[in-house]
Amino acid sequence: KLSKKDEEEAIRRSKAYEEDDINTIRKVSRQEYLKKREQKKLEEIRDDIEDEQYLFQDVKLTEKEEREMRYKKQIYELVKKRTEETDDTTEYRMPDAYDQEGGVNQEKRFSVVTQRYRDPTAGEKMNPFAEQEAWEDHQIGKATLNFGSKNKRRMSDDYQFVFEDQIDFIKASVMEGDKFDEEQTELHEQSKAQSALEKLQAERKTLPIYQYRDELLKAVHDHQVLVIVGETGSGKTTQIPQYLHEAGYTKHGKVGCTQPRRVAAMSVAARVSQEMGVKLGHEVGYSIRFEDCTSEKTVLKYMTDGMLLREFLGEPDLAGYSVVMVDEAHERTLSTDILFGLVKDIVRFRPDLKLLISSATLDAEKFSDYFDSAPIFKIPGRRYPVEIHYTKAPEADYLDAAIVTALQIHVTQPPGDILVFLTGQEEIETAEEIMKHRIRGLGTKIAELIICPIYANLPTELQAKIFEPTPEGARKVVLATNIAETSLTIDGIKYVIDPGFCKMKSYNPRTGMESLLVSPISKASANQRAGRSGRTGPGKCFRLYTAYNYYNDLDDNTVPEIQRTNLANVVLMLKSLGIHDLLHFDFMDPPPSEALLKSLELLFALSALNKLGELTKVGRRMAEFPLDPMLSKMIVASEKYKCSDEIISIAAMLSIGNSIFYRPKDKQVHADNARMNFHAGNVGDHIALLKVRSMKRARDIRDQLEGLLERVEIELVSNPNDLEAIKKSITSGFFPHSGRLQKNGSYRTVKHPQTVHIHPSSGLAQVLPRWVVYHELVLTTKEYMRQVTELKPEWLVEIAPHYYQLKD
Ligand code: ADP
Ligand code: MG
Repeated sequence: KLSKKDEEEAIRRSKAYEEDDINTIRKVSRQEYLKKREQKKLEEIRDDIEDEQYLFQDVKLTEKEEREMRYKKQIYELVKKRTEETDDTTEYRMPDAYDQEGGVNQEKRFSVVTQRYRDPTAGEKMNPFAEQEAWEDHQIGKATLNFGSKNKRRMSDDYQFVFEDQIDFIKASVMEGDKFDEEQTELHEQSKAQSALEKLQAERKTLPIYQYRDELLKAVHDHQVLVIVGETGSGKTTQIPQYLHEAGYTKHGKVGCTQPRRVAAMSVAARVSQEMGVKLGHEVGYSIRFEDCTSEKTVLKYMTDGMLLREFLGEPDLAGYSVVMVDEAHERTLSTDILFGLVKDIVRFRPDLKLLISSATLDAEKFSDYFDSAPIFKIPGRRYPVEIHYTKAPEADYLDAAIVTALQIHVTQPPGDILVFLTGQEEIETAEEIMKHRIRGLGTKIAELIICPIYANLPTELQAKIFEPTPEGARKVVLATNIAETSLTIDGIKYVIDPGFCKMKSYNPRTGMESLLVSPISKASANQRAGRSGRTGPGKCFRLYTAYNYYNDLDDNTVPEIQRTNLANVVLMLKSLGIHDLLHFDFMDPPPSEALLKSLELLFALSALNKLGELTKVGRRMAEFPLDPMLSKMIVASEKYKCSDEIISIAAMLSIGNSIFYRPKDKQVHADNARMNFHAGNVGDHIALLKVRSMKRARDIRDQLEGLLERVEIELVSNPNDLEAIKKSITSGFFPHSGRLQKNGSYRTVKHPQTVHIHPSSGLAQVLPRWVVYHELVLTTKEYMRQVTELKPEWLVEIAPHYYQLKD
């Protein structure tokens, strides 16, 4: 027990910590923030000027260089003047930790950015920038191009002062287009002035895949397993299931098509139901976790790969399907990889089942090899050439750079929509806010710019907006997550802005901790992204990193998810499918055996597996819930504590919440996070409405969990006043996540000792109970426990005696 004095000290220290912490709710002067930012800029420019003066002290400058120098000095003076003015408006900011779906905050981004440009192996070797510049000069000669053609640049001189921080790009290369038949495009024109359905039908015929319809059907007829490869937008996802339907494959079963992403499954199903002129949910439907939009009538079923995986539990031979199409196979999500192993197995004893593996990338040989040399069907692409531009120097703040670039394109470039790749919902919302603000500032000087966000949690009605044609004279800018890389095709995109990042899961098998991190993309992804601009005409891709970064810092391909994730979920599922020997499961790329063992260990600790690694009754019940094993265990345990009603409400609320963040501690954190906070506090009423929607969704999820309780024969019992019972149920699932208070107000996780803190948004942040269990760890400025509950240490020993023992 802490002495009173110790306790006070702990509280004082933790407060001092928090005051220093930019994630706390606090009063920040808006002006103060802007000033700070400008000061930083000022320092940068001053350093720059000094550097150059030093470097060029003995050199005669060219006229252009002198002009640049003068310009810089001018800006320096301007900014300096402005920072000296003051304004005392204040504003409250919310901690950015409320971000949805694993948003990421600024300092993390910064650290990743800086990290990217720092070659870890280089040591003290040399200045990476010098190396980079030398390399670039060599590669490109001196042909620097300041964004578009020279005249354009002149036209945009007006805007130079509007956009203080213009970004200089270097045109580096052209990605060749494909040769294709122009006739097809003409068909497109003819399709005007018909009824909506006729028009859609005509449009279908303009897709590249249409010419290969009969050949494709013949190949499907002749082979049980077929690998299909075609450029994004060629019509694989929307057309192939329809062709199969037209050819009669739906007479004896459904055609199922899996998508790695929820939004894609929904949007594509909606599109196909339109094309077929049927109501969504009837002949064409979709199924995603907690949302089943199908009926008895459904013959074309789009679903997430995770949902098809769950269907194996009820129907291990997928008897209801005549064709399974594993789409976007190149994404190599965890579920897709597991599906590969399972479907490969079923096709052996179900000769009537057709299996299609479709992918947007050309490395189809790997799929073909895995599926016993299945033939590869290539759909020739239709892509126009794409110019690749790189930034001249690395950009420290890619979000800002993306916004500036989008506006630059808007004022300097010919018509054509813009697609910006960002990493998540929170970032997209921030970008939208800033852009709107800047556009307002420009008034009528510029043409209309329509901002369309797209991310997984966006309500369906708003998703449709990205597919609406852009009105004459306006320009659309789509702010998208990775979903627009291959899963969704948006027509009319001519410019792509690629900051070079995406959110990626990573997993530490030693601690069992999972995190979602903003990480550099792979070269393969970068090229997919670039390709999105060349679908309807020649395109341009602006990479917010340098050519040096591209060639030297980006991996060739993304590591499959199975090698960087927590496997407890799929292990439980495979076990309940009767697959015991996981080490010999036919993985396309096996997960690290350490990660497999770790998940077996966790499932054993949760009593889902017995000592022999066999599924227990608890495990069988847990597997029924489409939730993480710890949550499922919490629900199953609520039977014993007679509070299932309260526990499923908690589980539902947790399920709509945030994803897990975790980042190893050794990375430095950048402190200038203020802007994110600023915008997070300013989200406005629409976002508030969204949050209400989330509540409704939680309600839906709760109803479904109630149904599942019935299925595993757990009675719905309400016991709202027995908080101890509720806490014990929670502990039953989350005991591996326990922490103990330290003298300084931090916590030490018990099993894999690590210093963590209670998140400031938690109701317990000021209370600092001696023992807690937490739902997840989030790394912002520190490692925080989010969703925390107090517990008594005796419970750990009572609930998990195999895991915790009393030390005397
Ligand atoms: P692929 O799977 O080969 O990438 P898709 O079948 O997804 O291609 O897309 C083919 C075409 O269908 C796209 O070019 C696009 O024009 C159209 N399309 C797809 N989904 C939608 C949608 N939700 N709304 C409007 N058009 C869509
Ligand atoms: Mg597709």
